[in-house]
Amino acid sequence: MQILSRRPIVAGNWKMNGNKSLVSLLEDKLAHEDLSHLDVVICPPFPYLGLFGDTVSLGAQNMSMHDSGAHTGEVSASMLQETGCSYVILGHSERRADHAETNEIVALKVEKALAAGLTPILCVGETEEIRDGGNLFAFLAEQIDAVEQQIGILQFAHIVLAYEPIWAIGTGKTASPEQAQEVHQFLREHLAKKNSDIATKINILYGGSVKGSNAKELFSQQDVDGGLIGGASLNPEDFLSICLAAKQ
Ligand code: PEP
Repeated sequence: MQILSRRPIVAGNWKMNGNKSLVSLLEDKLAHEDLSHLDVVICPPFPYLGLFGDTVSLGAQNMSMHDSGAHTGEVSASMLQETGCSYVILGHSERRADHAETNEIVALKVEKALAAGLTPILCVGETEEIRDGGNLFAFLAEQIDAVEQQIGILQFAHIVLAYEPIWAIGTGKTASPEQAQEVHQFLREHLAKKNSDIATKINILYGGSVKGSNAKELFSQQDVDGGLIGGASLNPEDFLSICLAAKQ
């Protein structure tokens, strides 16, 4: 399970993309580089989880809020843990929008993931309307607080946060480094009201159209500890350059 360290993390979210040959292409690409300064996490679709060797850490893109039982098509936290996952993405905006995952459901999933020894990558982020309407910080605080109320602030020591503005996901419209820094700083300050040690040490990743060409500038911001990468994680060359851009 994640121990607070601010060691950079670059996590690739393949979404419902990729195939068996991409697993080997990516592993070959990463195998020849010294990436010991960061944790490289790949979150492929469930069927490919078992195909990876130990070049990367593994994460799932979702999991059930139930432990077991009559939930056809669902996968539990302990199954992910047994399959070799260390991480699980929870609260991704596509899950919130397409599968009606509320803050409360996300909070329950975070609790289950932690109980199984997985590190949740908890995603928060606003639509353009929310930002333009001046409700950005209240909205993000609500997303974080729902989880905090479920698990307590001390459990945030075992969580990675990802700030993913919805308007920047898959759109090519990246948040500027200043916009990312402003929100990451807010998230840290918000957590600091409950526990300053955890707030200082928690990893906060940025996600939203990160590419090899903009990663260095984003990752150089004081409160940005790496990235959650969608589209560019499907291109081994680009993904490698993002990993190399993570600060030492
Ligand atoms: C994502 O979906 O988590 C994401 C950040 O996507 P993209 O990098 O393609 O914007």
